[in-house]
Order: sequence, then structure tokens, then C-alpha cells
Amino acid sequence: MIIKAYGAHAGNLPLEPLDITRRAPGAHDVRIDIAYCGVCHSDLHQVRAEWAGTIYPCVPGHEIVGRVSAVGAQVSRHRVGDLVGVGCIVESCQHCAECDDGLENYCNHMVGTYNAPTPDAPGHTLGGYSQQIVVHERYVLRVRHPEAQLAAVAPLLCAGITTYSPLRHWKVGPGHKIGVVGIGGLGHMGIKIAHAMGAHVVAFTTSESKRAAAKALGAHEVVVSRNADEMAAHAQSLDFILNTVAAPHDLDAFFALLKRDGTMTLVGAPASPHPAPAVFNLIMKRRSLAGSMIGGIPETQEMLDFCAEHDIVADIEMIRADQINTAYDRMLKGDVKYRFVIDCASLAA
Ligand code: NAP
Ligand code: ZN
Repeated sequence: MIIKAYGAHAGNLPLEPLDITRRAPGAHDVRIDIAYCGVCHSDLHQVRAEWAGTIYPCVPGHEIVGRVSAVGAQVSRHRVGDLVGVGCIVESCQHCAECDDGLENYCNHMVGTYNAPTPDAPGHTLGGYSQQIVVHERYVLRVRHPEAQLAAVAPLLCAGITTYSPLRHWKVGPGHKIGVVGIGGLGHMGIKIAHAMGAHVVAFTTSESKRAAAKALGAHEVVVSRNADEMAAHAQSLDFILNTVAAPHDLDAFFALLKRDGTMTLVGAPASPHPAPAVFNLIMKRRSLAGSMIGGIPETQEMLDFCAEHDIVADIEMIRADQINTAYDRMLKGDVKYRFVIDCASLAA
């Protein structure tokens, strides 16, 4: 079926309307009429060729929510009419150790929602800045939030799971003092989720304008990281730091804030590396530097259910598809509180 989408033909060109095709649903496939799609900084990195290997035309978008409009004959998990979501994964090998553990995000054959090889035309996956998507039922999540919150649920499919998964893996909870660095799409979800998990949350931002806003999100304390005195007040006091910053920066300033045995986990994926951290900052207090990528499908469902139970959604600004290029420029300036979401009905116009 031919549908409308928004994407780019090259990294230095703006996104524009495109016609793309979706396969007819196979036996295990679910077809989703996309209502909303969140705008992740990864979309910008990929479509502007800041990361290696972008294939064009590139249609970004991996924070997808909508309603099931068709199912294949063998589909058992979803029905026509269900409210569902799709995140960053649309396929994996389904039989390796990672897939068996529900960690499809670490499968060597994981197929991303966009820019990954597929037998479907045009030979690579095309994401959620589009009217419909067809996905194997294993990678389709149930949405239990009220329908009125659907647009604000979309960012949970990437920003939500990318912050929830490391917070769970490093067992963040009551009695922990943790830091969230970079209060953008990911960071603002990190604050909300860590707060709901019972941790004492310190938000670290470069933006003075987010000082009050981060408190409203659930941060117990806010530090403007450019201010050395404010940073020093938290020296050697944090159990864990979730670093979501989308640009290279000095990691040592944050290592100094970790307690003995503390961990800083990087989820931000800047186009060029951070300056190497000082070895002594790690060995002196047995500190760890770690990374984490999105989350597996069972954990994504767990995160969605956790957020529904705790009434957590993203803070969003809704845009039309034809506003995406301006939205990217604003995202780069940190001028969004905190996630743009495309109203996919605007694609029909
Ligand atoms: P975003 O909304 O643009 O937020 C990034 C935040 O980082 C900004 O709001 C800003 O926060 C801070 N920041 C940006 N530039 C900075 C700079 N030069 N110096 C210091 N701080 C800066 O982006 P996002 O969608 O949350 O994504 C963040 C990063 O995570 C991106 O690199 C994205 O590709 C990556 N990502 C990774 C995964 C994964 O699986 N690991 C998943 C999704 C996204 P303040 O204004 O508060 O300083
Ligand atoms: Zn993302």
C-alpha cells in the first residue's frame, strides 16, 4: 500500500513529503494506523548523517503510537482497534541468547525501525513519520494509558525505555541519590521515572531556564552544571548517574560526584566521542563507566505498564509534519519542553 511519509533524500537536505509503500500484513504482522510519532534526537543524528551509514531516502521516527487496523491470520497478541505502540525495534533473530532473554535490543540481528536492512521496498526500514506501519506482533506493545494521553505516551517508546532500562538494571530505588544529566527528551523522562522508583533525584542541566522546570518534573534538587560551586556541593555523593547529553562534554566533572563504587551510564550518543576521562577519577573510588541502549520488548511493556500505573507521560509540544525541520533546529538549541510529537493526521493534508 502506498502511504504518505516525511523524510529526506540526503543529509544536507530538509525533510519533505514522500510517498512510501508498506507490505501487506503477513501471518504474524500487525498493521498500525499511526496517530502520533515522537521526535527523538537520534532521528536528527541519523537523518542528517551525523552517525555513519544513513541510507536514503530516510524516514525517521521510532516513538510510534496508534491503532491496529489489520492483523495477520496467526496474530494472537493484538486485535483490530487496540491502542498500541512501536519503539526502536521491528525485528530480531528470535533465537539467540539475547532474544531468549527478551533483550532483543542487544541481538546482533536486531532490525531498527528505520535505516535497517529489510526485504521490504526500498530495502531498508522506514520509520514512524508516516501514516501506517506493518510490524511483527512480537515487537508491538500494548498501551494501557487513557486514549486522551496517547500523544504524550509516544515518547515513552524510546525516551521512556532508554531511561527506564538502566535505572532498573542498576537497581535504582529508595535510599539512592542519583543524577540525571541533560534535561531533554530522555532526561525529563529519566527524572519522572527515577522519582517514581523512589530515588532522590538531582537534575544536572546547562540551561538556567530549566532550573524551575526540572523541579516541576520531580527532581528533588537541580544543579546548573556550568556552576562549579553547585557541582562541588554534590561531590562524592551520588550512587548512580544517567547521562543523556547529546554532545561531547567533560565526563570528569560528573565522575567526581559519584560515591565509591558508583556508576555513570551513558545513553546519549553524540556524533563524536567525549574527551577521554581521567583514569584516576575511576580507579580512586572504584567507579564505573557504562553504556545502555534502549531496552528489550518485555521490559518496554513493563515500562509502559509502570508509567500507566504511575500516571507518567512525556511533556510534549505537538507539531504538524511540515514543521519538522524547524523542530529539529529548535531541539538543537534545547528549545523544547521536552519532546516534539508529530500529529500524523497532518500527513494527509
Ligand atoms: P535532546 O532532547 O536534544 O536532549 C539532550 C539534552 O542534552 C539537551 O536538552 C541538553 O540538556 C543537553 N545538551 C545538548 N547539547 C549539549 C551540550 N553541547 N553540552 C551540554 N549539554 C548539552 O535529545 P534526546 O532525544 O533526549 O537524546 C539525547 C541523546 O541520547 C542523543 O544523542 C540521542 O541520540 C541519544 N539516544 C540514545 C539512546 C540509547 O539507546 N542509548 C536512545 C535514544 C536516544 P540541558 O539543556 O539540560 O543541558
Ligand atoms: Zn530514540
